[in-house]
Amino acid sequence: MNATEHPRSLWRETAPLTPAPVVLTKAVKADIAIIGGGYTGLNAALRAIERGLHPVVLEAVEIGWGASGRNGGVVSTKFRVSLSDIAKHHGLETARRMHRIGHDAMDCVERNVEGLGITDAGFARTGNLRCAHNDLAQARLVAEAETARDMFGDTSLTILDADQVREETGSGDFVGGVLSTHAGVIHPLNYARALAAAVRAGGGEIFEHSAVLARKGNGDRTVLTTAQGEVAARHVLIATNGYSDITAATAPVRGTVIPFRSAMIATEPLGPNLRATLMPHGRSYSETRRMMRWFRPAGDRMLFGGRGAFGREDSASAFQELERALKEMFPQLAGTAITHRWSGLVAMTMDSLPQVGMLDERTGFALGYNGAGVAMSSLMGRRAVDLIQGDKPDLGLMERDGPKPIPFYFLREPAVRFVAGWYQFLDRIGR
Ligand SMILES: Cc1cc2nc3c(=O)[nH]c(=O)nc-3n(C[C@H](O)[C@H](O)[C@H](O)COP(=O)(O)OP(=O)(O)OC[C@H]3O[C@@H](n4cnc5c(N)ncnc54)[C@H](O)[C@@H]3O)c2cc1C
Repeated sequence: MNATEHPRSLWRETAPLTPAPVVLTKAVKADIAIIGGGYTGLNAALRAIERGLHPVVLEAVEIGWGASGRNGGVVSTKFRVSLSDIAKHHGLETARRMHRIGHDAMDCVERNVEGLGITDAGFARTGNLRCAHNDLAQARLVAEAETARDMFGDTSLTILDADQVREETGSGDFVGGVLSTHAGVIHPLNYARALAAAVRAGGGEIFEHSAVLARKGNGDRTVLTTAQGEVAARHVLIATNGYSDITAATAPVRGTVIPFRSAMIATEPLGPNLRATLMPHGRSYSETRRMMRWFRPAGDRMLFGGRGAFGREDSASAFQELERALKEMFPQLAGTAITHRWSGLVAMTMDSLPQVGMLDERTGFALGYNGAGVAMSSLMGRRAVDLIQGDKPDLGLMERDGPKPIPFYFLREPAVRFVAGWYQFLDRIGR
């Protein structure tokens, strides 16, 4: 990976300037050293400060350089596994806990934004609309909404028909959908940078362009070594998600997640007529195909994302495919130019759930958000610190008693391509 590569994202272009990065060039001490400067790492640092601990965050490139600065900014309670499946396989009580954790995650972002006075991230609880691409998908959405209502007393979901979804989105591509009011949108990079500012203001230290190259025990401390300095810490949190293979220091968790490229495009500013009919309520929207697409407005532009770029690097054909899908879903955008294209890595896991646990008695890990981590990584970063400190936070099914390497990890790239192809096939035949 090229450590200087920056995606040409709308977020980067619209984010205010940040303080010049500070590189670690000396030996420092920390109560907890955090590897990774995304939402997981930054929320962990904030939680450490709340607990009276001194955190040091080490980021290989820049704050928000990973998925946290590149994502779609959809803040939601969802897991990649449905609550009815969780209830079926793990029982109703576990499903209730997971439902509560999802809502806690959403509340965590809201509390960050309000408590830290994060105004330039534009967080708004606008709701999220899941749009069904066929009748089978709509039936599944309705069943899931009814489960949430009946089992968990969740009143935040409303079932919509095809006309209502057309009015909501401006697209005639869907047969119905389910609207959740317990969701919102955010400017992802501004959120990450504001969290970093709060860490610095609270006395935590952040070093950028300071990749951790090695991690070694030394007495009652763990020493993290960078190119020009080192941190001796009582505890360590690995928060590197889809970027866990940058150096050998995070090798024990690397094999527990499969990095999967996720891509986004942004249109040029839309005229008033299009703005009035496309997504007039300014929510976030996702669809039910397995190779899911999602979309939302951002200012006067439209953003469209999807799992399209399968390789380790960006590919022009994946962006073309995304643009084709956008214009098929919204034929009224046929003449609209795409001005921004970018992508990032999400971390998939075998059971589609995030993983939080201890590697050894001093080192924790929290990663594997399966592309739905804006809210969940905010919460899990905090709970991971509580776990490291010896508490028993509720981690639901995400709690692991150690890293669980994925079998046949060396086959991950062909496997990702195979699964993506299979999903596209199922989508095409309407399953
Ligand atoms: C294109 C895209 C769209 C997405 N859209 C959404 C969405 O709309 N809603 C949603 O909920 N989720 C979305 N996600 C997922 C979400 O962004 C992630 O789940 C979340 O940001 C994970 O945060 P994190 O802090 O765990 O990891 P990251 O933000 O990826 O941070 C990991 C960091 O670790 C650093 N690092 C790695 N190795 C080292 C090392 N050795 N030393 C120091 N630093 C290191 C990396 O440089 C990186 O900055 C999207 C992701 C992508 C890529």
